[in-house]
Amino acid sequence: MTLPDPAFDYGKTYRERAVKSVAFGVSSTPRGRQKPAPIVIHKAEGAHVIDETGNRFIDYALGYGPLVLGHSPDCVLNALRAQLDLGMRTASVHKGEAELGELIADTLPCAELSSFVSSGSEAVHLALRTARAVTGKKPIIKFRGNYHGWLDNIHLATDVQNDGAGTIGQDDSASRSVTVLDWGDSDAFLNAISSDYAAVILEPVAVNGGCLYPPEGFLELVREKTKELGVILIFDEVITGYRLALGGAQQKVGVTPDLAVIGKAMGSGMPIGAIAGSAAVMEPIASGKMLHRGTFNGNPQSMAASIACISHLREHTATLYDEMDANALELEKHAIKCASQSGIEASITRTGSALQVFLGTTKIQTLSDTGKIDKELTAKFTSELLKRNVQSLSRGLIYLSSAHTQDDIETTKNAIAGAFDAVKSI
Ligand code: PMP
Repeated sequence: MTLPDPAFDYGKTYRERAVKSVAFGVSSTPRGRQKPAPIVIHKAEGAHVIDETGNRFIDYALGYGPLVLGHSPDCVLNALRAQLDLGMRTASVHKGEAELGELIADTLPCAELSSFVSSGSEAVHLALRTARAVTGKKPIIKFRGNYHGWLDNIHLATDVQNDGAGTIGQDDSASRSVTVLDWGDSDAFLNAISSDYAAVILEPVAVNGGCLYPPEGFLELVREKTKELGVILIFDEVITGYRLALGGAQQKVGVTPDLAVIGKAMGSGMPIGAIAGSAAVMEPIASGKMLHRGTFNGNPQSMAASIACISHLREHTATLYDEMDANALELEKHAIKCASQSGIEASITRTGSALQVFLGTTKIQTLSDTGKIDKELTAKFTSELLKRNVQSLSRGLIYLSSAHTQDDIETTKNAIAGAFDAVKSI
């Protein structure tokens, strides 16, 4: 059963209205690209979203990842309600900051001190500034296909086919001190690395590029060399932090960076970002010598949601991650079967509770292989899923939450089979 086109008419009509007062009609460009039309969400509960016309969708976009406990976890909503009853206290000192700092120090291997901001992009910015302040050097190494937010100094080579700025309008000089290398290429890294660098920043598990683990030994090598040369190793765990495991990707892969950037899942849907590292690396902020500013940094609502979310994840670690991963594995196996039955070339890769379906190629082993995918066909597949009441990211990324039920998984499996059939008949 697919949703008839009129079901998306509301989205189209709404968009015609929105573009008259909101540039591109949305608040973040990719949201405007959902096909057949962006669905306009009225309400969300558990793992479902309900649009303005009453259509219910099983949601695997999960707000681009943060909603690891689903859309309406009691623990987070109750903490937020209690916090709101205490009034809005933006830009004040409050005990939630220390409570959250303690929780992060208890759960994230690299964390001793934390520092809070309101988004992942800001946190990356803070991490780079901290690394430059602590080393007194400017150059940074980043990897092709890793995404670290939209700010000018690092928004480049976000696509393996484009080494340049991520968008028009960027100031090229802001990223002049960034060297771009292939993620997972140990030889290229060994050739480039030296003590001239302030930092190496990377996604330890490349969820943005296609849910890939790095080649064996790569992270260990980067860790060893950066330590030897006094270069700060930054893991961008904005997606993987509190999603892949309680201790993030660093716990999963057994490599501890100097600094971690976290966001998304830690806030369970509230705007938040943070960096965390040893007292030595965090010294520029801890001493007050380096400015770390922001009206909304550490706001009580985001802190309360994050405390509730991380506490819940910690309490349920023994089962929660295994259950999410098992559901993702079930969808992965099913998608592989459907792709093979339909004869469509597809690559299905998974890291824990994040699953990537790419169409147009069967072999994605490294990030550079993602240059071979058919983006348009992949977007057609996700649009066919949407017509079957299943929302993923348009680019084929599927996030699981602890709120997805076995019923949701079964319904999704039917939708996946139907979407492959539909794409085949295009
Ligand atoms: N780093 C990574 C790895 C991300 O995936 C993202 C967002 N997708 C960011 C940084 C930027 O986070 P935000 O959108 O909260 O600014």
